Order: sequence, then C-alpha cells, then structure tokens
Amino acid sequence: MAVALRMSVLYAPTLKEVPAEAELPSHRILLRAGMIRKAAAGVYSYLPLGWRSLHKIEQIVREEMDAIGSQEMLMPAMQPSELWEESGRWDLYGPELMRFQDRHGREFCLGPTHEELVTSLVRHELRTYRALPLSVYQIQVKFRDEVRPRFGLLRGREFIMKDAYSFHATQESLQEHYDAMYRAYSRICERLGLEYRPVEAESGQIGGKVTTEFMALAESGEAALVYCDCGYAANVDAASTVVPRHPRTTEPRESHKVHTPDVRTIAELAGFLDIPEHDTVKTMAGKLPDGTLVYFCVPGDRELNPIKADWAAPGVVLLEEEDFAALKIPRGSLGPVDPPAGTLVIADRSLEHEVAWGVGANENDYHIVDALPGRDFEVARWADLVGAQPGDGCPVCGGVLKGARGIEVSQVFQLGTRYSESMGATFSDEDGAERPFLMGCYGVGVSRSLAAVIEQRFDEAGVAWPVTVAPLEVAVLPLMTEGEVFDAGERIWSDLAAAGIEVVLDDRDERAGIKFNDADLIGWPFQVIVGKRGLAEGVVEVKDRATGERENVPVGEVVAYVTSAVAAAKAALAPTTTHP
Ligand code: ATP
Ligand code: MG
Repeated sequence: MAVALRMSVLYAPTLKEVPAEAELPSHRILLRAGMIRKAAAGVYSYLPLGWRSLHKIEQIVREEMDAIGSQEMLMPAMQPSELWEESGRWDLYGPELMRFQDRHGREFCLGPTHEELVTSLVRHELRTYRALPLSVYQIQVKFRDEVRPRFGLLRGREFIMKDAYSFHATQESLQEHYDAMYRAYSRICERLGLEYRPVEAESGQIGGKVTTEFMALAESGEAALVYCDCGYAANVDAASTVVPRHPRTTEPRESHKVHTPDVRTIAELAGFLDIPEHDTVKTMAGKLPDGTLVYFCVPGDRELNPIKADWAAPGVVLLEEEDFAALKIPRGSLGPVDPPAGTLVIADRSLEHEVAWGVGANENDYHIVDALPGRDFEVARWADLVGAQPGDGCPVCGGVLKGARGIEVSQVFQLGTRYSESMGATFSDEDGAERPFLMGCYGVGVSRSLAAVIEQRFDEAGVAWPVTVAPLEVAVLPLMTEGEVFDAGERIWSDLAAAGIEVVLDDRDERAGIKFNDADLIGWPFQVIVGKRGLAEGVVEVKDRATGERENVPVGEVVAYVTSAVAAAKAALAPTTTHP
C-alpha cells in the first residue's frame, strides 16, 4: 500500500498571487503550489508537498552514497570557533559565517560546511593506514549568511546539503573515491531528470585544486560556463582563457603620447583613436597585503576576473574610489608605462603578442599609443587574467567555445592535506611514519536541486515534475463531490494505492477548473480525470502532465494503465552513468 492522500485535508495552500520579490519560476511555483513558505530572507519552511519532494531527492542521494560505500552519520550544526581557528577559516570565511556566543561567552558558528568538524572528529581515532580509506556523509541543514539570499531555494541562508568527506593514505585512493563520487553525482543528476554538465571549477573558500561542479543548465542560472564539442567544459572563472587574437597589419612604430581630453572609458578611447576596443588595453589597479601596487593589463574589451587576479597576485584587493585619490593616481588613465615606482605590472597572456598597445599615460587626459612591452615598459608577469567567454578558443582542442548558464547543484573536491595538515590530523603509514590524511569533500545542494528541477521543467501553468521528484505520482480528480462519479474516483484512488502507486484524491468541493489548475500547478505527473460523460461510456481520462497528452482508458483498465505509465516514466529516468 503506497501513500494515499486526500486533498481536502492536505496542507498545501495554493496561491493565485505571489510576492513580487519571487522573480524566478522555481520560487514562484514553490510558493504558489503551497510547497514552501518564507520565514525570513533565505529561510523557508517546507510544507508537506515540498517536504515530500525534498525527501525523495534526499533518498536518491542517500542511495547513491550508500552504493559507493560512504557511511551516513550526523554531525552537529553548532561548531566551536576553536576548530575554525585551527584551520584559519575563522578569519578567512568572513561575514558569511553565522557566529554567535553561548551564555559563557564562548564563540560558535552554525556550520556552512563541515571540513573542520569532521577532521577533528577522526584525528585522534583514525590512527593507522589500515583503517583507510574512510568516507562518511550527512544530510543536514547548513547556514550561510549570503550577501544576497534570493531566488527562493536556489540561494538560501539556511538550506539542506548532503556533504561527504573522505580520508585516504594515498593519492591513488583519493582519486579512486573522487571518481566514484563523480559518477554517483552524475547518477543523482540523471535520476532527478536534470539536464546537466560537469564543469571544471574553482575551489574558492574550501581549498584544494582538483574540483568539478555539476551544473543544471538553465537560463536563470547564476553561473556562466563555456564548453566545446571536444568535451571540455568549465566555469568561466576556472577556464584557462584563450582570447582570440586580432593580428595587426601595422608594423611597430615609435610610441607617442596623445592628448585625450574627456576620455575616460575604453569605448571613448577606442572612438577617439578610431581603433577597435580590443586594440586598446585596460589597466586596473590593486594592492597586495604588503602594500605593493599592482597594475593588471587586460584587453580593452574584456574584464579582469577577480578570482584569476587573486591567482596571479595572491591576496590582492582592487582599489576603491577613495584609494585612487589617496595614492594620487589617475583612475581613468592608468597604464604600464612609467607607473609609480615599485608597481608590479601583470598583463594578460593574450597581450603578449600585441604589436602596439593603446594605454593610459598615468596622467589625466593623456594616453600612449603604440607602446610595446620590453621596449617602452616592463611586464613582471604574464598571466591568465580574464574570464572565458563564448567565442574564445578551447584550451584543449583549439575549437571555438560556446556559452551556457547553469545552476551549481553539486561539487566534488580533492582537498589534499589542506585541513589535515593545519589541524594536525595524521595517521601512521606502513613504515610507521606519521603523515597527514589526504582528504576529499563532496557536496550536493539538496534544497537547491529541488528548485533547479523546476527551473528546467516549468510552464505557464506550473511544473511538470519528473516522476522521481514529484510529491506524489498520480492524482485522481473526480469532477463531482458525491454520487457515482465520486465513488468511481475514490475506488480508482484506493486501487492505485493498493497497486503501489503514490496517489492523491482531489475530494475538495471545488469547481473542475480549480482542480485542473491546481493539478497542473502542483504538477502531479499523471492525472486521472473522472467525469460524468466519460463514466457513462465506461472510461476515464488519463493526462500526462509532461506531454499534455490525454487518453481515454476503460475504468477496468485504469490501474494497469497508470501503473505501467508510472513504471515507464521511472525507467526513462534510470541513470545512464554506470559504476565500473
Ligand atoms: P555558490 O557558488 O552557488 O555560492 P558554493 O560553491 O559556495 O555555492 P559549496 O560550498 O560547493 O557551495 O556547497 C555545496 C553545494 O551546496 C553547492 O553545490 C550548492 O548546490 C549548495 N549550496 C551552496 N550554497 C547554497 C545556498 N546559499 N543555498 C542553497 N544551496 C546552496
Ligand atoms: Mg561550490
């Protein structure tokens, strides 16, 4: 007997109107379908239908983790500051970390992630290589005081994550588990019916270098990615950028200073000099922790990527308006020629073969044209400084990159010894030597995935859930609240439940139009519509929410028909990624 619910008592308050702040389809639909309600910015309650879908996602994640030998456990959300001080992240994490004091004035945080906690957990107990590898996971509420909590479940301040951590004696062992996780994550996306792409990524706050993000492709996604037909795909922050070059026909000439009154922007400069924007060079200024001034030179038509800037000059902070005034440098006219003494000039690799640079002269209202690195100025470092964009070259095959937007639903990392070393978590290896664990960590945004599914499957009326995520599989809609029609509907409902189908009966005293609208809004994958006219001919109508197709099915065959339709829908979502 599967779940059988009655709409008349179900707590699923559907809405006609939603708050204007709900910009994205997933946010609007989750509110309208009565699946979530806001408690505060980025903080939500999951009502019964929302919880059912969320629980299904958790269950899929759980099965995939169990299948690769990760063990489920639960760690506390509340974590003492000492652990974060050991790793250095108490300071590094910044205001996103939700901190508080207990009654004795001791510092704590609400976990945004659990590397510190899990490392401290095993460090005195997992002592020898014989106990390795170990992989554990939990499904838990996480807290991040995001600058801009928005888009409903896509970016919450309290959200549900599955986080797994693994400990290894060797790099081979870490790689093996990372690969297993990668496949498990692919399978999770496939079972959720997501159109997805694994992409090379940046590790950000977490640390480590080898990492992949799983992107649910969606116009509304906050992440920009590039990909190539050869299989290469990366987050634009992580892609090694191959900016197409625009070979000049001119020979290098003497550089000379040009009076450029009122020219502030690259567009104005290009217009004034009558050259394309990509032939100009934009200079951005930053400061290193030791006070050194850094000038980043990038092609005029591209932007300096802050993450890449940090790679090229660790710890650099870009200058603010008031810094320019204090340092007495002309913001609109920076350039690599004769910068203030001691300035570190870092230039984007794509500029290395430029014949002539059009740059700021470090003097208000002047620019220099035909400047050449090595002749007119020195570049201390050539680096990859700009975010990749569609049309750039593929760093693997040289083809042309295409662009897409995505929602990061999950990410896998090889952490190496980032936490074990700073927190003194060691084991004794075969020779009895103490060595820090090699670690991996692996996160799935469970609540974000729920919203991501909707971002790929919404329409005017609501959502067309994949059967694996739908709150229930089937709804029976008798179009009358009593008599023969209602009785037939109720019978089909209980027969379906007995056949193992999760089914809801819309027994509310509502007009047919309202029942239809709510059914499409909530998005039950299959609807069985029981009406007077059909019943007189011995048939009911079965509607497939995803395709909109309707079929008249004899009453006596409806259970078999629906059961096989649900089974077929499930089979279509069977994962294609297999474990070796
Ligand atoms: P983002 O770049 O989107 O802020 P992240 O890279 O900081 O995410 P991770 O630390 O990799 O996030 O966390 C693992 C997963 O948790 C993410 O892939 C994402 O699905 C989910 N997640 C992270 N932050 C949030 C949030 N604020 N709300 C909902 N889910 C989130
Ligand atoms: Mg991430």
